[in-house]
Amino acid sequence: MQRLAGKRTLITGAGSGLGRASALRFAQEGAAVLCVDRDAASAESAAAAVREAGGAGVACAADVASEPDAERMVAEAVEAFGGLDVLFANAGIAGVGTGADCTLADWERVLSVNLTGVFLSAKHALRRMIAQGTGGSIVNQASVGGLVGVAGIAPYAAAKAGVIGLTRQLAAEYGPARIRVNALCPGTVPTPLVRETYRERGGYGTGTGETPDETLELQRLRRFPLGRLGEEDDIAYAALFLASDESSWVTGQAWAVDGGMTAV
Ligand code: NAD
Repeated sequence: MQRLAGKRTLITGAGSGLGRASALRFAQEGAAVLCVDRDAASAESAAAAVREAGGAGVACAADVASEPDAERMVAEAVEAFGGLDVLFANAGIAGVGTGADCTLADWERVLSVNLTGVFLSAKHALRRMIAQGTGGSIVNQASVGGLVGVAGIAPYAAAKAGVIGLTRQLAAEYGPARIRVNALCPGTVPTPLVRETYRERGGYGTGTGETPDETLELQRLRRFPLGRLGEEDDIAYAALFLASDESSWVTGQAWAVDGGMTAV
């Protein structure tokens, strides 16, 4: 029995990294997947990979920070699959800056995708799920940066903490409609976003000068009790559990999938 058999799903930021790995996992477990990305070619490539793996993958180019786009992506999922059961609001961007140095423009740019984008995705998915009357699951991509302080990523961490707050709020509001809302808080998984963060921040600390590869190695040695960095599938499997009916009594949670980082 496939774990997402018959589920109609939408994944934002599906063109790369954690979103793309999750699209493939969801499809392998029987889901139809609308692969949303603001980069049209990446969305198409992810949808093609889903189809090559034997799943139902449809591409959608949309910017989650735009409300018309967020509304349209949900409409496209409904048109393609006849409804929507699962949203994985995963799209995000790097967000480097310290409290004293972050410009207002950078703050607003990061918040617009990493927090407002999650709100807009959830808002339009919720409207559809409520209208269907069959419940649903929303998984919001937060970060360990939303749980603990991490120097040099002030706008990113603030946005991710906001995602956790929004997740609890939506769980309270839509539990009676049997719509579950949970947040994932990944530790470090080497993806383009992570490498960009380390390049812009200038190392393991703020401006300490290590390259992204050196920073990743320091992270591995110092931060993770399990002694390794995350892999994309570590997060995809957690998203799969939260998306599936196996987690049907789980809502309003912020789940750290982080090799033990936030436990020690
Ligand atoms: P990634 O850069 O590999 O992928 C992000 C994808 O999102 C890209 O394809 C990009 O085009 C897309 N995207 C960006 N802005 C968008 C927008 N406005 N609308 C639609 N699509 C947009 O990064 P990733 O590491 O896979 O990150 C995915 C999510 O996981 C992000 O929310 C990130 O903050 C979160 N996260 C990642 C890590 C990690 O270690 N990789 C840790 C914690 C949280």
